[in-house]
Amino acid sequence: MAKKIQSIRGMHDVLPEQTPLWQYLEQTVRDTLARYGYQEIRMPIVEVSELFSRAVGEVTDIVEKEMYAFTDRNGDRLTLRPEGTAGCVRAGIQHGLFFNQQQRLWYTGPMFRHERPQKGRYRQFQQIGVEAFGIASADIDAELITMTANLWQELGLKNVHLELNTLGDNQSRAIYRKALIDYFSQYNEQLDSDAKNRLHSNPLRILDSKNPKMREIVANAPDLYDYIDAESKAHFTELCHRLDTLGIAYSINSRLVRGLDYYSRTVFEWITTDLGAQGTVCAGGRYDGLVEQLGGRATSGIGFAMGVERLVSLLEDQADSVALNRLDAYLIMAGEEAQLAGMQLVEQLRQALPQLRILANCGGGSFKAQIKRADKSGATFALILGSNEVRDKTITIKSLRQKVAQESIAQDKVESFLSSTI
Ligand code: ATP
Ligand code: MG
Repeated sequence: MAKKIQSIRGMHDVLPEQTPLWQYLEQTVRDTLARYGYQEIRMPIVEVSELFSRAVGEVTDIVEKEMYAFTDRNGDRLTLRPEGTAGCVRAGIQHGLFFNQQQRLWYTGPMFRHERPQKGRYRQFQQIGVEAFGIASADIDAELITMTANLWQELGLKNVHLELNTLGDNQSRAIYRKALIDYFSQYNEQLDSDAKNRLHSNPLRILDSKNPKMREIVANAPDLYDYIDAESKAHFTELCHRLDTLGIAYSINSRLVRGLDYYSRTVFEWITTDLGAQGTVCAGGRYDGLVEQLGGRATSGIGFAMGVERLVSLLEDQADSVALNRLDAYLIMAGEEAQLAGMQLVEQLRQALPQLRILANCGGGSFKAQIKRADKSGATFALILGSNEVRDKTITIKSLRQKVAQESIAQDKVESFLSSTI
């Protein structure tokens, strides 16, 4: 036998038994976004590398160590996108979507990061991203967050809670940055290598450290909130007030800084305790400087991305066995005559009943083999057509899920039988 080829580490196939949950999630998100007036945008998966170093930031995990970057045959430096906001902003600028306009956009697709694969952390993973442009006020922050809260409800997800913070404007962050450098410099000996590297280039990122040994030093670091500018504080107070009014619960976490450089003011994460260490299922924030940073006119922006794999695994654990994509019927055809007549009948049924999910046996096989396939298909009923049935214009209906006697009905009654059961 020839050698088998395996998928790349950290990149997974989603098998047919899992796709119904993915489809259910994607459809529910799609519907919810449409109800809030968000429109879909589709961007390429590959962009020039410079887009990400400028948008995400040079001194970030993503740009420093995680990008799938390569030189193509023209010698251009390209990257498989690690996230969607940069490409969305690039597209908006390129097509003039932002000037004097508000935009509510969303997209979905695979993202690529060369991380250490583990449960909930992959090298190719799926995000659904949502972005709103051209609105500076806190009402849109509240709308986005409320929409996600409604989405969890719609999906029947429990045990997700909201953490909220404000990063202030660029100026207040610069002052805070200096305070952090002074503070962490006292502990130079105890800092891990990541923290040492970041001390002068990006000390805020040290707050984000996942190293437990750094926890105590981080815990006593100066508090960002003491450095926030008055306008950003007012923005944050307004957001909290709006969330209170809408009955959305949250906790304020002043250590929440997020892993990407472009955020300003509001940042938030939805976290679950049900997925172990990889508990953030949705994360985002405001990025008022990003459009300008990428060559557009100053435009406010705010957005978030959901990790589809993590949400699917929550759904798997939490949703009470959603009966998804179940086949209604499997058509068994015994004999040549039945095969021809059966294919006609099944097309008529599909025309008449658009909701019907019916699989017609192909490739022949004995009656016993077909019954076995029907059983395995998960269908509710087997419809059986043999030479007797063809002659009498009847069809035999056998329940595959309940112990009831099979019955024979006239072929012209099968449509009403099925429509009453689906
Ligand atoms: P984390 O702190 O878990 O690394 P992040 O801050 O890097 O997340 P974002 O860039 O904000 O993540 O992406 C938004 C969401 O996408 C995350 O909250 C998570 O649900 C999902 N996500 C991010 N990286 C991965 C990955 N490697 N595999 C699976 N899902 C991911
Ligand atoms: Mg990350």
